[in-house]
Amino acid sequence: MKLHFFLIVVLISACKLIAQTNFHPPLLIPLNLAANFGELRPNHFHMGVDFKTNGREGLPLYSIDKGYVARVKISPNGYGKVIYINHPNNITSVYAHCSGFVGILDSLVKQKQQEAENFEVEFYLDEGELPINKGEHVAFSGNTGSSTGPHLHFELRNTTTEAALNPLKFGFDIKDTKVPQISALKVVALTKKGYQIPNKSLIFPLKKNGKGSIVKATTIEIPSNFCSLDGGQALSFEVNDFIDGSTNACGIYESHLSSLGDTLFQQRMDSIYFDHSRFVNSHKDYDEYLISKRKFNKAYKVAQNPLTIYPINQIGILTLQPGDSIQLNYTANDVKNNASSLDFTLKAKKGERNNLIDFYSPSTHFIPDSSYIFQGENYIISIPAFTFYEPLKKYVVLAYPNLILGNQKDPIQLPITLKLKPIYSKVTIEKQFIKINNSYTKTTINKENWLEAETKTLGKINIGIDTIPPTVNALNFNSTDTLLTKKTLTWKVNEGQTELIDYDLLIDSIWYVLEYEKKGSYLIVTLPMLSNEPHTLEIVAVDACQNKTSWTWKGWLTKPPIKEESPTKLD
Ligand SMILES: [Zn+2]
Repeated sequence: MKLHFFLIVVLISACKLIAQTNFHPPLLIPLNLAANFGELRPNHFHMGVDFKTNGREGLPLYSIDKGYVARVKISPNGYGKVIYINHPNNITSVYAHCSGFVGILDSLVKQKQQEAENFEVEFYLDEGELPINKGEHVAFSGNTGSSTGPHLHFELRNTTTEAALNPLKFGFDIKDTKVPQISALKVVALTKKGYQIPNKSLIFPLKKNGKGSIVKATTIEIPSNFCSLDGGQALSFEVNDFIDGSTNACGIYESHLSSLGDTLFQQRMDSIYFDHSRFVNSHKDYDEYLISKRKFNKAYKVAQNPLTIYPINQIGILTLQPGDSIQLNYTANDVKNNASSLDFTLKAKKGERNNLIDFYSPSTHFIPDSSYIFQGENYIISIPAFTFYEPLKKYVVLAYPNLILGNQKDPIQLPITLKLKPIYSKVTIEKQFIKINNSYTKTTINKENWLEAETKTLGKINIGIDTIPPTVNALNFNSTDTLLTKKTLTWKVNEGQTELIDYDLLIDSIWYVLEYEKKGSYLIVTLPMLSNEPHTLEIVAVDACQNKTSWTWKGWLTKPPIKEESPTKLD
C-alpha cells in the first residue's frame, strides 16, 4: 500500500514536471519578466512577454520546440530583427529585437539582403526548408527595432489565425508570488449607447487593509445625477500586477466584477488578435491614461469593442436610479492565481436624476458610428465610421494649407485619409509632404497629382517641404585617414525634415549590407574579407523626398604590404 502511494506521488510529480517543461525556455538564464502579456500600452496591447537579458545583447536564443523557420523580417522599426518558428499543435513562437541569427539562417538572411540589395528584408519559408530542433540555438538577443533596451520580446501565436496567445499560460518557469494591486476605482455615468456623459465621473482612491490582497471600501456614493432614465453607470479599476524580481508594473491576467455571486463583467488575457490591438484605447480609461499615465481597466465595454478578452457575454453596465444601491465584488488575479479582492456597496444618492437626452449633438460632436468628409478646393479629408471611440468635440479648422482636425491627444481607431493640393509653386511636388503635428507623415502623390497620406493621429495638418539631403559622417574613424584597421565602421546619419528611405554601401562598386540603427541614427557595416589593396567606400543615403547624399572614401582597409627595399649594391 505504502509503495503504491509513493508511486502515485512520483507519477503525479512527473506529470507536473512534464507540464512545466513542455517548452524549452527561449533563454538559458533564469526567466525574469520585464513586461507581461496584455499590458496596456499607447495604442496597443503588449502582445507578448519581455524577458530580461541581464541588460546585455548577444545572449543565445533557443527554439522552444521542434518546428521550422516560417518567417524572418529585418527592419529598423518595430521588431527589428525577428524570427517566427512554426511548431506542431498550431503554435508559432516569435523572437523579436534580435541582434543576429545563427548558422544557415544567418547565411540565408545575408543572401536575401544581397539579392534585394537592401538591409530591410522579409521572407516566408515552407515546412521542410529550414527545420529546427527543440532547444536549437537560433538567434542572439538584442535591442534592434523600436526596442529601448536589451531584452527578448517573445510571443506565442496561433499559427492559423496569428492571434497572440498569453505565453504565461504555457508553463514557462517564472516565479510570481506577488498579488495585483487595486489602487483606485472610477465611476462614470453612461448614455444609452454606452458613451461617457461629460463631467460625470469620479475617482475613489482605495487603501489596502493591511492583509495585503484585500482592499477595503465600504460604501461608495455617487451623485443622483449619475443616474438617467435610459443610461447607466460603469466602473473601471486602476490595477497593476507585479512579478517577483521586478519593480515594473505589469498588466493583470484576469478580473471579475460580480454582485452577490452573479458575474457582471469578466476580463481574461488569453488571446488578442493583432487587428484588435488598437482597441486598447477602448478598453482602458483613455482620459486617465492621458492625464496621468494611470492604467484603469474598464469593467464594461461598448458595443463596437471586438476584443476577445471578455469571456462572458456581459457589458458590465449598471442601471442604478437615485436611492438604489448594489453590493459589488471586484477581484483581479494573475496567471498563478495570486489575487486581490475588493468588496463594496455602490450607492446612488437620493435626488434629481440627469434628465437630458442628447448629451452629444451631431452638430457639435463627431459621433463614433458616423462617417465624415471635409472637402474644399484644395483638400479632402475622409473619416470612416467608427474612427472615434467616444463622441468627440468637433474641432475643425479648414484654412488650407493649415488645417486642424481635432486634438493630437485624442486617440482614433481607423486611419483618416488626407488629400492636399501641393502648395509651393517653386518646388516640385516630389519635394513636398504632408506634415501632421509638425512631423513627417508618409506621403504619396496620387493620380490627381495631389499629396495623399493616411493618419491615425489627429491634430495640425499642413504641407512640409524638403530639399535638404541627409548628412553622413564617419563616427568611429577619421574619414581623412587613408588606413582603417577597424572591422566595424559606423556613421552618423541625420535627416532633418522627412526620413531616410534608402541607404547603400558600395565597396569598390559592389553592394554590401549596411545596417540602419534608427534610434541612434547610425549606419553600421561589418567589413567583409577584402584583398590587400586600396579600396573605395561609397555610401548613398536618400530621404523620402528623393534628396540624395553621397559619402566616399579611398584607402587601405588592411595594412599595406611592407615593400622590401632593393638590396644595396656593394660595389
Ligand atoms: Zn515586448
